[in-house]
Amino acid sequence: MEWKEKYPKKYKEMYTKYYREHKDEISRKGKEYRAKNKDKIRERDRKYREKHRDKLIIKKRIYNKEHKDEINKKNREYRLTHKEEIKKLQQQYNQKNKEKHRIYLREVYYPKHKEQIKIRRRELLRTNAEYKKKIYARTKANKTISTDGKCCERCGSSDRIEKHHPNYDAPLDVEFLCFSCHREQDQTDRMARL
Ligand SMILES: [Zn+2]
Repeated sequence: MEWKEKYPKKYKEMYTKYYREHKDEISRKGKEYRAKNKDKIRERDRKYREKHRDKLIIKKRIYNKEHKDEINKKNREYRLTHKEEIKKLQQQYNQKNKEKHRIYLREVYYPKHKEQIKIRRRELLRTNAEYKKKIYARTKANKTISTDGKCCERCGSSDRIEKHHPNYDAPLDVEFLCFSCHREQDQTDRMARL
C-alpha cells in the first residue's frame, strides 16, 4: 500500500498545499495541455459519457430536479433574449422536417389552439382585406369546383389535387395542382411578396 493511501489526510493536506503554491503554474499547464489535446480530450469525454451513461442520466435528472426553478428561470431568460435566433433555428428545423411539422400542426398544434386560431381568423377577416378575399375565393371555389378526376397541371400527378388561385379576384379561375406543386407555388408566391 502506498503511503498516500495509508495516510489520506496527510496526503490531502500536502496536495492542497502544493496546489495552492503552484496554482498559476498548474492552471497554465492544464490550459496548454487542453489546447494541444482537444481531440484526445473530446474522445476521452465521449468514452466516459458512453461508459457511465445511465449514471449520468440519473445524476442529471437529480440535478435538474433540485435546480428546477433556477433552470426554468434561465431558460425563460434565454428564450426572451434570443427570440430571433430561436425563431430562425425553428424555421430551419421545420424546413428540414416539413412532413413531420405538418403532422405536428394537424395533430397537436391546431387542436390545442383551436379557439385562438378561430379568434385570430375572425380578426384577420375583419381587418385584412387580402385575407378576406383569399378566404372568400377558397370557399367559393370549394363549393363550385370539384377536383374529382383531375390531374396536376404542372407535373401530371393525380396525388392530392388542390385548387390554386392565381388571382383571388377571380374565385372561379383555378389551377389544379398536386399537393407538392401547390406548396412549391405558394413558396414562389411568398418569395415574390418579400
Ligand atoms: Zn404537380
